[in-house]
Amino acid sequence: MMQPDEKINIKKVDTIHKEKIEKLLRQLLIEIGENPDREGLIGTPARMAEMYEEIFGGYKINSELDVSFTEAAETIIAKDIQFYSMCEHHMLPFFGKIHIAYVPAGKVFGISKLIRLVEKYARRMQIQERLTKEIADEVMKRGVKGVLVIAEGEHLCMKMRGVRNGSLILTEAHRGIMEQKEIREHVLSLIYTSKQELQAV
Ligand SMILES: [Zn+2]
Repeated sequence: MMQPDEKINIKKVDTIHKEKIEKLLRQLLIEIGENPDREGLIGTPARMAEMYEEIFGGYKINSELDVSFTEAAETIIAKDIQFYSMCEHHMLPFFGKIHIAYVPAGKVFGISKLIRLVEKYARRMQIQERLTKEIADEVMKRGVKGVLVIAEGEHLCMKMRGVRNGSLILTEAHRGIMEQKEIREHVLSLIYTSKQELQAV
Protein backbone atom coordinates (compact mmCIF):
# COMPACT_ATOMS: atom_id res chain seq x y z
CA MET A 1 0.00 0.00 0.00
CA MET A 2 1.27 3.40 -0.94
CA GLN A 3 0.95 6.24 1.50
CA PRO A 4 -1.32 8.83 -0.13
CA ASP A 5 0.93 11.74 0.83
CA GLU A 6 3.83 10.19 -1.06
CA LYS A 7 1.96 10.35 -4.33
CA ILE A 8 1.20 14.04 -4.45
CA ASN A 9 2.55 15.66 -7.63
CA ILE A 10 4.33 12.52 -8.72
CA LYS A 11 3.47 11.38 -12.18
CA LYS A 12 3.67 7.64 -12.38
CA VAL A 13 5.85 6.45 -15.23
CA ASP A 14 6.35 2.72 -15.55
CA THR A 15 8.95 2.56 -18.27
CA ILE A 16 10.15 4.94 -20.92
CA HIS A 17 9.11 3.80 -24.42
CA LYS A 18 12.54 3.81 -25.96
CA GLU A 19 11.50 2.78 -29.49
CA LYS A 20 8.95 5.59 -29.66
CA ILE A 21 11.54 8.10 -28.45
CA GLU A 22 14.07 6.81 -30.97
CA LYS A 23 11.60 7.35 -33.82
CA LEU A 24 10.84 10.89 -32.67
CA LEU A 25 14.50 11.77 -32.33
CA ARG A 26 15.27 10.39 -35.76
CA GLN A 27 12.50 12.61 -37.16
CA LEU A 28 13.87 15.57 -35.21
CA LEU A 29 17.29 15.08 -36.81
CA ILE A 30 15.70 15.16 -40.26
CA GLU A 31 13.71 18.30 -39.40
CA ILE A 32 16.80 20.24 -38.30
CA GLY A 33 18.44 19.39 -41.63
CA GLU A 34 20.54 16.37 -40.70
CA ASN A 35 20.98 12.95 -42.21
CA PRO A 36 20.14 10.48 -39.42
CA ASP A 37 21.75 7.63 -41.36
CA ARG A 38 25.25 9.02 -41.43
CA GLU A 39 27.82 7.21 -39.35
CA GLY A 40 28.02 9.66 -36.46
CA LEU A 41 24.26 9.93 -36.03
CA ILE A 42 23.01 6.44 -36.73
CA GLY A 43 23.16 5.39 -33.08
CA THR A 44 22.25 8.76 -31.60
CA PRO A 45 18.47 8.29 -31.17
CA ALA A 46 19.07 4.99 -29.35
CA ARG A 47 21.76 6.52 -27.13
CA MET A 48 19.53 9.47 -26.30
CA ALA A 49 16.56 7.24 -25.45
CA GLU A 50 18.84 5.30 -23.11
CA MET A 51 20.11 8.53 -21.56
CA TYR A 52 16.60 9.93 -21.09
CA GLU A 53 15.73 6.99 -18.91
CA GLU A 54 18.47 8.14 -16.54
CA ILE A 55 18.12 11.93 -16.68
CA PHE A 56 14.34 11.77 -16.38
CA GLY A 57 14.49 9.02 -13.79
CA GLY A 58 13.18 11.33 -11.05
CA TYR A 59 9.57 10.49 -11.91
CA LYS A 60 10.17 6.97 -10.70
CA ILE A 61 11.90 7.78 -7.42
CA ASN A 62 9.74 7.46 -4.36
CA SER A 63 10.61 9.34 -1.24
CA GLU A 64 12.94 7.45 1.04
CA LEU A 65 13.17 10.16 3.65
CA ASP A 66 11.22 7.95 6.03
CA VAL A 67 14.40 6.08 6.82
CA SER A 68 15.78 8.28 9.53
CA PHE A 69 17.39 7.91 12.92
CA THR A 70 17.04 9.65 16.26
CA GLU A 71 19.68 12.21 17.11
CA ALA A 72 19.75 15.31 19.25
CA ALA A 73 20.69 18.08 16.86
CA GLU A 74 19.80 21.72 16.31
CA THR A 75 20.53 22.68 12.74
CA ILE A 76 21.81 20.25 10.16
CA ILE A 77 23.15 21.51 6.85
CA ALA A 78 23.76 19.28 3.86
CA LYS A 79 25.84 21.52 1.63
CA ASP A 80 26.87 21.38 -2.01
CA ILE A 81 24.62 18.55 -3.18
CA GLN A 82 25.28 18.41 -6.92
CA PHE A 83 22.22 18.35 -9.16
CA TYR A 84 21.52 18.07 -12.88
CA SER A 85 18.10 18.94 -14.22
CA MET A 86 16.34 19.87 -17.47
CA CYS A 87 14.75 23.26 -18.07
CA GLU A 88 11.16 22.57 -19.06
CA HIS A 89 10.97 25.67 -21.24
CA HIS A 90 13.89 24.79 -23.52
CA MET A 91 14.73 21.18 -22.68
CA LEU A 92 18.33 22.11 -22.00
CA PRO A 93 20.24 21.26 -18.82
CA PHE A 94 20.54 23.41 -15.78
CA PHE A 95 22.78 22.25 -13.00
CA GLY A 96 24.62 23.31 -9.89
CA LYS A 97 24.45 22.86 -6.16
CA ILE A 98 21.74 22.61 -3.56
CA HIS A 99 22.10 23.28 0.14
CA ILE A 100 19.51 21.87 2.53
CA ALA A 101 19.42 23.16 6.11
CA TYR A 102 16.86 21.81 8.53
CA VAL A 103 16.04 21.72 12.19
CA PRO A 104 14.98 18.19 13.10
CA ALA A 105 12.18 17.34 15.48
CA GLY A 106 14.00 14.33 16.93
CA LYS A 107 14.83 12.50 13.70
CA VAL A 108 17.59 13.27 11.24
CA PHE A 109 17.90 12.12 7.65
CA GLY A 110 20.86 10.28 6.25
CA ILE A 111 22.79 12.35 3.71
CA SER A 112 22.21 9.74 1.00
CA LYS A 113 18.46 10.16 1.48
CA LEU A 114 18.74 13.90 0.94
CA ILE A 115 20.79 13.31 -2.21
CA ARG A 116 18.11 10.90 -3.43
CA LEU A 117 15.44 13.51 -2.67
CA VAL A 118 17.31 16.07 -4.79
CA GLU A 119 17.52 13.54 -7.63
CA LYS A 120 13.83 12.79 -7.37
CA TYR A 121 12.92 16.37 -8.21
CA ALA A 122 15.91 17.25 -10.41
CA ARG A 123 15.73 14.34 -12.83
CA ARG A 124 12.66 15.53 -14.67
CA MET A 125 11.41 18.53 -16.65
CA GLN A 126 11.77 21.31 -14.15
CA ILE A 127 12.28 24.95 -13.36
CA GLN A 128 14.73 25.87 -10.62
CA GLU A 129 12.18 27.74 -8.51
CA ARG A 130 9.89 24.72 -8.34
CA LEU A 131 12.77 22.32 -7.71
CA THR A 132 13.74 24.39 -4.66
CA LYS A 133 10.17 24.53 -3.34
CA GLU A 134 9.42 20.85 -3.89
CA ILE A 135 12.49 19.80 -1.91
CA ALA A 136 11.58 22.18 0.94
CA ASP A 137 7.98 20.94 0.98
CA GLU A 138 8.97 17.31 1.11
CA VAL A 139 11.49 17.78 3.94
CA MET A 140 8.87 19.79 5.84
CA LYS A 141 6.28 17.07 5.31
CA ARG A 142 8.57 14.59 7.06
CA GLY A 143 8.05 16.38 10.36
CA VAL A 144 10.97 18.75 10.85
CA LYS A 145 10.74 22.05 12.71
CA GLY A 146 11.95 24.04 9.74
CA VAL A 147 13.83 23.81 6.48
CA LEU A 148 15.77 26.15 4.21
CA VAL A 149 16.73 25.13 0.69
CA ILE A 150 19.04 27.11 -1.58
CA ALA A 151 19.78 26.18 -5.18
CA GLU A 152 22.59 27.69 -7.25
CA GLY A 153 22.13 26.87 -10.90
CA GLU A 154 23.75 27.48 -14.27
CA HIS A 155 21.30 27.37 -17.15
CA LEU A 156 22.47 26.32 -20.59
CA CYS A 157 19.36 27.89 -22.14
CA MET A 158 20.69 31.23 -20.90
CA LYS A 159 24.30 30.56 -21.83
CA MET A 160 23.82 29.06 -25.29
CA ARG A 161 21.03 31.19 -26.67
CA GLY A 162 18.98 34.37 -26.23
CA VAL A 163 20.70 36.97 -24.09
CA ARG A 164 23.68 34.62 -23.47
CA ASN A 165 23.66 35.63 -19.88
CA GLY A 166 25.89 33.33 -17.93
CA SER A 167 24.96 34.43 -14.45
CA LEU A 168 24.31 31.99 -11.66
CA ILE A 169 20.66 31.77 -10.64
CA LEU A 170 19.95 31.57 -6.92
CA THR A 171 16.62 30.35 -5.60
CA GLU A 172 15.55 29.89 -2.01
CA ALA A 173 12.63 28.35 -0.15
CA HIS A 174 12.05 28.25 3.59
CA ARG A 175 9.41 26.66 5.77
CA GLY A 176 8.55 26.34 9.49
CA ILE A 177 10.85 28.07 11.96
CA MET A 178 13.06 29.18 9.07
CA GLU A 179 10.34 31.79 8.51
CA GLN A 180 12.05 33.65 11.35
CA LYS A 181 14.49 36.09 9.85
CA GLU A 182 17.15 35.77 12.58
CA ILE A 183 17.27 31.99 12.32
CA ARG A 184 17.38 32.13 8.54
CA GLU A 185 20.18 34.68 8.54
CA HIS A 186 22.16 32.60 11.01
CA VAL A 187 21.82 29.53 8.82
CA LEU A 188 22.70 31.47 5.67
CA SER A 189 25.84 32.76 7.35
CA LEU A 190 26.76 29.18 8.27
CA ILE A 191 26.33 28.09 4.66
CA TYR A 192 28.18 30.97 3.07
CA THR A 193 30.91 31.61 5.64
CA SER A 194 32.08 28.05 5.66
CA LYS A 195 31.98 28.09 1.87
CA GLN A 196 34.37 31.02 1.71
CA GLU A 197 36.64 29.35 4.22
CA LEU A 198 36.71 26.27 2.05
CA GLN A 199 37.60 28.33 -0.99
CA ALA A 200 40.37 30.13 0.90
CA VAL A 201 42.14 26.88 1.84
ZN1 LIG B 1 15.22 27.47 -20.22
